[in-house]
Parts: sequence; C-alpha cells; structure tokens
Amino acid sequence: MAKKNVNKLSNSVTHDIDQLASSIEQEYLKSKAWKLPGVFSLISFQLSILAILFSVTILLGYWMEVEFLYRPLALEPATHPVTAVIALFLSVSILLPNQPSLLGCLKTALVSVSAITVLVAIIDYVFSTEFLPPNIIFEREQGHVHASALGNYLSINTAIMFLILSCASLAGIYDRKSLQQIIAYVAISIPCISLIGYAYGLASFYSHMSLYTAVIGFLLGWSLLAQTSDYGGFKAILSPYLGGRIARFQSISGMVLPFSVGLFFVSLSNELNSSYIGMFVIFVTWFLVLMISISAYVQEKIDAARREVTEKLIQAANTDPLTGLYNRRQFFYLGKKELRRAHRTGNAVAVLMIDIDNFKTINDTAGHDVGDQVLVAVSNTLTLVLREFDLVCRFGGEEFCVLITDTTKEGVEEVCNKITSTIRSLSINNWTDQHSPVTVSVGACLIEKMIDLESALKVADAAMYQAKSLGKNQTYYSVAFSGAQGSLQ
Ligand code: GH3
Ligand code: MG
Ligand code: MG
Repeated sequence: MAKKNVNKLSNSVTHDIDQLASSIEQEYLKSKAWKLPGVFSLISFQLSILAILFSVTILLGYWMEVEFLYRPLALEPATHPVTAVIALFLSVSILLPNQPSLLGCLKTALVSVSAITVLVAIIDYVFSTEFLPPNIIFEREQGHVHASALGNYLSINTAIMFLILSCASLAGIYDRKSLQQIIAYVAISIPCISLIGYAYGLASFYSHMSLYTAVIGFLLGWSLLAQTSDYGGFKAILSPYLGGRIARFQSISGMVLPFSVGLFFVSLSNELNSSYIGMFVIFVTWFLVLMISISAYVQEKIDAARREVTEKLIQAANTDPLTGLYNRRQFFYLGKKELRRAHRTGNAVAVLMIDIDNFKTINDTAGHDVGDQVLVAVSNTLTLVLREFDLVCRFGGEEFCVLITDTTKEGVEEVCNKITSTIRSLSINNWTDQHSPVTVSVGACLIEKMIDLESALKVADAAMYQAKSLGKNQTYYSVAFSGAQGSLQ
C-alpha cells in the first residue's frame, strides 16, 4: 500500500517537472525575438530624412523669400540660415556610412565643420565677438511692425544643442556607441525644453530657438539615439522580455503624464508659476527616463544571465549529454505533437527502433571509451542520414529511436537501408580496424492509421527483436494501425 503511494507520488512529481520544463520552454521560445532594436535602426534613417527635409525647406524659404518657411510662428523666432546648413550637414552625416571610405571621410568632415561652426557661435556669445553674423534682419523685414522682436539669431541654446549633437555623432564615428547614447540623450533634453516652452507658452524656455530648430534638434537627437538601439539602457528598454515591456510602459507614462499634468496647471497659473511648473516637468521627465533606463539596463543584464542558464537547463533537460540527441522526454513531447499533426494532414509517419548489435562485446573487448565512440558515431550517422525535421533520440543505452515524418513504405525501406549500410561502413579506431564492423538491428513500424506513440514504439521494439532473432544486422518491418498490427513481410 505504502509502496503504491510512493509510486503515485513519484509519478506525479515527474509529471509536474515535465509540465514545468515545457512551460519554461514555451515562455522562453515565445519571447525570443528582439524586433524593436531593428525597427529603431530604420526609424533613425527616417528621422534623418525628415530633418533633411526641414533644413532644405528652411533654406528654400530664404532663397524664395517665403518667411513662413523659416519663421513658423509669426513674431516668434526664425531659424538662422547657418543653423539650417548645420542641421543639413548633421542629418546628411547620419545617413553616411562609418567605414574608412570616401563617404566615411565626408561624414567626419560634415560633423567637424558643424562642430567648429557652433563652437565659433558659442565663442561669439561668450566673448561678444562677431565671427558669425549673430542676427540677420533681412531687408523685407525692416518695415515689420515688431521688427525689434524679430531677426534670425543663432542663439546660444541652439549652438549648444548642435555642439552636443555633433559630439554624439563623433562618438558614433569612433564606434563609441554607449557614449553616443548618453550624449544623444543629453542633447535631446535641449530641444525638449524649447518644445515644452512652445507648448506651455514660456518664451524664456525657447529663447531665440525657433520651433523649426527645436523640431530638427529633436529629430536629430532621436535619430542619433536610435542608432544605438542595440546598446545599453536603450536596448534594455526595447527588450522583448518582461523588464523591457515594463520599462517601455514606464518611459512613455513617465513622459506623457508629467507633461499633461504640467499643461493643465500651466493653463491655471500666471507666468512665473508656469515657469516653475515647466522646470519641474522637465526635471521630473528627464530624471524618470534616466532612472528607468538605468534600472532596465541592470535588470536586462541580470535577466540575460538567467536566460542563458535557463537555455542550458532546457538543453540539459532535453538532450543526452554523450550524443547530443534528444532524450526520451523530449522525443515523446515532440513526437506526440508530430503524430497529432500527421493525423490532421493524413500523412504516414514511421517509428524506427535501432539497437547496436553485440555492443556489450565492444565494451568488454575494447573498453567503454571505444563503446562511447561507437555510440557517438552511430548517432552522428543517424542525424546525417535523416532529414532535419525527423526526430532522432537516444532511447537508452545502445538503443536509438527515430520518428520519420511524411513518408511511405518505400521511403522507410530506403532510409533503413541507408542507416544499416552507412553504420556498417563506419570506421572506428581500435574496433573496426581490429575486429568486426559495427552493425545494427532495426525494427520499423509504419503508422498508417492513428495510434499513440507508445503503442507504435512497442510495435517497433517487437520488430527490432524479430530482426535480432533473425540473425541481427538487418531490418524487420511492421505496420501499425488502430487496434491492430501486422508484419509487412
Ligand atoms: P544485442 O546484440 O542483443 O543487442 O546485445 P548487446 O550486447 O548489444 O546488448 P546488451 O543489452 O547486452 O548490452 C548493452 C550494453 O550497453 C550494456 C551497457 O553496459 C552498455 N552501455 C549502456 N550505456 C552505455 C554508454 O553510455 N556507454 C557505453 N560505453 N556503454 C553503455
Ligand atoms: Mg539493447
Ligand atoms: Mg544491442
């Protein structure tokens, strides 16, 4: 009675472990694809194209004298022509390759020229020099009612933004992707301050940076950031695993929520309070995204190590360590699935039971090492001879079983002949050169009508013993169908 209970318990534990192993495996296989980093590489390209279109439109605006094209909002800042040229250089440079080619040199040149130009603008601002024309007022704008408020500045915030963007680009050119990511993240915060200024109506936040410049800076910052989607915190946020999914939700809500709440309070407040709210929103958003990226990075690192261990455990749980073939558990799991599929499609499948002849003699005569070599050679032969979607398993000791899918009686015979003849011609050091060739006895069971895998294996096993009793080194064929089985010979 007690023994029966222990057996029952042990069976239920084995069943639980099997279920747990396959659910871990399912979860693992389900979430394996890292699609988002690839999507963001593509987005990087598209954002640069958009930035090019903006810059060209602004320059066309100057050329065709259409003020709207370089001053998006009447009486608000316009984009300086030098700014548009730098934006064009930087956005084109993002599209160029990094390799030491002519285009790579052009890329470095464009980024360097941009960096030097904005550096000069910063020097102008700090030392009140005028190497660059700081404020262009075109003739046609002289008569404007608010001429004093107009003009086209290359302002200090614009210059600093482009300097940081150029640095991010240079880091990318020198293949420092993590550095590029951090610098691009810092760079994006400047146009974000201006954009929040425009959204909340706070002129001090955007100063002389036009809405177009802010948008271009935002596009370029994201384009450079998206180029690093395979690295660091950004990669972790784009991870297909749970940590990434949570981090994405947190990042988006961490940006949208403070911005919307801020917008609501700004609509109720005076200008001074609005500025405080604006600063608070910027700080909270920046800090949240930084914290989320850092924790996603750390979590992804730990999770990647855990996934590696899980992968090894799944591998160990499903395969035989000596031959690398599926073990019995995995064979039954995949085999049953395959039989269900065959039942749906109506295609015949076959099960083979293969046993090495006189294997004990090999072990006893040449030693276990040689026996192991024979096992590995036979398993390699089976993998080689069979198609990749057939299932090959080390059933135990020197017995192997195989499930052949979508086959026919002739197909099974051909495969069995190939298996027996290839194994017969194997050369194994210290055995086939000194003793006899390695041979196997095969029991083949063609499943023409649906029967379960266990029954099919029993038929194949009985067939294999028939082959043994008929003198070994041969195949015995059987056919199995619902409720009956019979010999083909
Ligand atoms: P038959 O031709 O009737 O199949 O006889 P046999 O000697 O092949 O079969 P038997 O079942 O008597 O012997 C199988 C042997 O396989 C016994 C066992 O020690 C050996 N064996 C099982 N697993 C391994 C293994 O992993 N490595 C080695 N070297 N031997 C193994
Ligand atoms: Mg045996
Ligand atoms: Mg044997």
